[in-house]
Amino acid sequence: MAFKTDIEIARAATKLPIQEIGAKLGISSDDLLPYGHDKAKVSQSFINSVQGNKNGKLVLVTAINPTPAGEGKTTTTVGLGDGLNRIGRKAAVCIREASLGPNFGMKGGAAGGGNAQVVPMEEMNLHFTGDFHAITSAHNLLSAMIDNHIYWGNELEIDTRRVVWRRVLDMNDRALRTITASLGGVANGFPREAGFDITVASEVMAILCLANNLEDLQKRLGDMIVAYRRDRTPIYARDIKADGAMTVLLKDAMQPNLVQTLENNPAFVHGGPFANIAHGCNSVIATTTALKLADFVVTEAGFGADLGAEKFLNIKCRKAGLAPSCVVVVATVRAMKMNGGVAKADLGAENVDAVKKGCPNLGRHIENVKSFGVPVVVAINHFVTDTDAEVQAVKDFVSEHGSEAILSRHWELGSEGSAELATRVAEIADADMANFAPIYPDDMSLFDKIDTIAKRIYRADEVLMDQKLRNQLKDWEAQGYGNLPVCMAKTQYSFTTDPERRGAPTGFSVPVREVRLSAGAGFVIAICGEIMTMPGLPRVPSAEAIKLNADGDVEGLF
Ligand code: ADP
Ligand code: MG
Repeated sequence: MAFKTDIEIARAATKLPIQEIGAKLGISSDDLLPYGHDKAKVSQSFINSVQGNKNGKLVLVTAINPTPAGEGKTTTTVGLGDGLNRIGRKAAVCIREASLGPNFGMKGGAAGGGNAQVVPMEEMNLHFTGDFHAITSAHNLLSAMIDNHIYWGNELEIDTRRVVWRRVLDMNDRALRTITASLGGVANGFPREAGFDITVASEVMAILCLANNLEDLQKRLGDMIVAYRRDRTPIYARDIKADGAMTVLLKDAMQPNLVQTLENNPAFVHGGPFANIAHGCNSVIATTTALKLADFVVTEAGFGADLGAEKFLNIKCRKAGLAPSCVVVVATVRAMKMNGGVAKADLGAENVDAVKKGCPNLGRHIENVKSFGVPVVVAINHFVTDTDAEVQAVKDFVSEHGSEAILSRHWELGSEGSAELATRVAEIADADMANFAPIYPDDMSLFDKIDTIAKRIYRADEVLMDQKLRNQLKDWEAQGYGNLPVCMAKTQYSFTTDPERRGAPTGFSVPVREVRLSAGAGFVIAICGEIMTMPGLPRVPSAEAIKLNADGDVEGLF
């Protein structure tokens, strides 16, 4: 049987006017700022007006260590949201916005897939409501003001070799990773080495996603460290006097975007911080607003649960005072096989033994998530190629390990396929079984926080860190940053720092190569292994196949 592509399904959707979607959540059309007919921002004054409402229940969707294609977390998030609405529960989903870089590279879209998508998917995957352009502009305004400050006499005594604030672009462009800026003569300033990151890696993005309101946004922007003096004392964005103008540029971008699923249920799509050097989930303001308006909010954390859920729970929930009622761990038969040692090219053939061999990866994620005090359900995201025996092997493993797995067919069938999952998730959330707590306290030392995550979540024997880095952490503690959470940057393919070590490995150490302070976002980043803040395009980028057809429709975008 031939299946339609994601974009064919999305284009055939029967969308409701965005005002009707807003009405489902009690948002009047005066409080919606429409961007066309099917997208709107929710006004800040409306958000302020609902602060007294009771919160709905929060459900987090996370996953096992993925295959390179992704495991269908977004697809399952959207499918579960539709499933909850189908069984009569008022639910909204909260997901991230898409970056242009991966769309024109190879990752694929960010709107879900099959019959569990958010629409309009083309716009969501392109310029959408301009939030990322605003973030790019705000970030680069600060960059320009730093070089301008140096040009006009450098009163702050910035060491031009120690400018840490780079420039950003929402594009995969490896040619700009390292550049020499200000070439061409006296009128162009003082030449220095600089570089570009992709917009989603900007600290401004992380801040937009963690800020509670515009005031908090401006304070955090001011707190960002942009450079150091010769004596190594930091210079803040506030010293450059950029925080006010940056906040002006970000004013509209701070308002969450409302769109709809294929089944006309509300979806907030807002923010999109990198899941490595940032925390990888949608904005706090979208999540907290959705919780005021819906009985259930289903949201997604990037990468596998060792990274995404860990950061969602230890960073976002801690900082925003959120607590999930239930966590859904998405598993696929394909990823179980890959974790069991099967190569990507051989995933098509039935292989129950490989599924069984890969299951301990799932088992470890279940234990880890439970260690935060939250109940777990496994959603087996069904692929039409999965065999009954393979699915049964996953179910058996999960029940032998004291949890439950539910087959969900939302990709193929929409909410009809996810109703069973939704019913169980609602039962668990209604039973108030969660007793959530982050796994380390604020006042633990920065090194011990890293050590706790490495040992308790990754199951490493030890953390390897040079004395120089340990001293850096101590310095930050002395400067008052010791109470920050840590943001781990690690491969998403393995519990270890080696992407090839799948399954549930033991007997390894976690080397930390570098530590960075995001003083505005409010975390210390521990970089373990290679980390890319400006991706490149593959040999054959998706962009080569993207075009407008004779009807003016976009083709080739998934
Ligand atoms: P993640 O959020 O984990 O990165 P997505 O939900 O974005 O994953 O899905 C990645 C890709 O896999 C999408 O193109 C989606 O259409 C596809 N996909 C997801 N679930 C299924 C499924 N059950 N069957 C076939 N394709 C799927
Ligand atoms: Mg996703």
